[in-house]
Amino acid sequence: MNAISTKQNLLELDREGLENFFADTLGEKRFRAHQVMKWIHHRYVTDFAEMTDLGKALRAKLEESAVIVVPKVQFEKPSADGTHKWLLGMDGGNAIETVFIPDKGRGTLCVSSQVGCALNCQFCSTATQGFNRNLSTAEIIGQVWVAARHLGNVPHHQRKLTNVVMMGMGEPLANFDNVVRAMSVMRDDLGFGLANKRVTLSTAGMVPMIDKLGEVSDVSLAVSLHAPNDELRSELVPLNKKYPIAELLESCVRYASRKKGTSITFEYTLMKGVNDQPQHAKQLARLMHKFDNAVQMKDAAKVNLIPFNPFPGTRFERSADEDIRAFQKTLQEARVLATVRRTRGDDIDAACGQLKGQVLDRTRRQAEFRKRLAEQGIGDAAA
Ligand code: SF4
Repeated sequence: MNAISTKQNLLELDREGLENFFADTLGEKRFRAHQVMKWIHHRYVTDFAEMTDLGKALRAKLEESAVIVVPKVQFEKPSADGTHKWLLGMDGGNAIETVFIPDKGRGTLCVSSQVGCALNCQFCSTATQGFNRNLSTAEIIGQVWVAARHLGNVPHHQRKLTNVVMMGMGEPLANFDNVVRAMSVMRDDLGFGLANKRVTLSTAGMVPMIDKLGEVSDVSLAVSLHAPNDELRSELVPLNKKYPIAELLESCVRYASRKKGTSITFEYTLMKGVNDQPQHAKQLARLMHKFDNAVQMKDAAKVNLIPFNPFPGTRFERSADEDIRAFQKTLQEARVLATVRRTRGDDIDAACGQLKGQVLDRTRRQAEFRKRLAEQGIGDAAA
């Protein structure tokens, strides 16, 4: 092991972990951890020498036993509509994408939780690359850190980043501990200070983990439903064979019932001729009514309709605009709250479902390009 690898990356720790590190490893007062959290997440400082309200001796101790390592930006790309995408390098040649989407009065960051995904949803480009590994807490919160620094975000004062959605690459509940710890920093006043409802975790429906999430966290929950009956959903989202719709909705009812006024968003990607027919909309409306009744709250279920974004090699197509409108109308006439997600960042492949598919390809292409430049004596192959 080299010297760096024995040091604690402070980005791995939430407030409690950092306090324990200060008390148990450094023999310091726990409140010192709060000062360091502010330096990291409010001022984006990663060099202990710049943390001027810490004594010299403490700074020296920190140099010896800790580091602050943030993900490396391999490249970034702004889009004409204000969307901004970062490709962040992970170890072993892996890369993940993080996307910022500004909208009226809010700025949402879409964050990844794994490199690849094992759940194999049929319409998802991440699924085509299989599962590689879980992201660490530092790699998850690091995505927020990189974006927030770029945006000039100042928690509590100049908020540019107002919402985080765990909807990027991977199934967040399959990387439970790291995701929960990272979400705790997102919501901590000493971290990014986001309200619970402004942090959303999106799951394909890992039923036992939804219950576990309800025990430790109070974030907003979104569920990738995509079909209104088990036969179709098991085809599109294979996890449904293990946790069918009825079980999934029961766990959602338990999650929503913990706190009065909690609603859950059901995501429904519309694919031409697959799940966008009038009978699907009617079945979906019945499911949503059932959910509202169980939670005993009107509009406890919100439906978010997502026009499918085709990617190379997919057998699915986007539904026609008139079919999307008709689907929404059927839900609305049945008094179900239904919105259509506006597609953003099309010109940089950052729209939902496109976030990840070409990452590996692109990383490989980029590496080959650098190699060719280096062979010609231009640039740096290791850059
Ligand atoms: S939709 Fe989500 S859960 Fe399903 S394969 Fe893609 S990343 Fe995984």
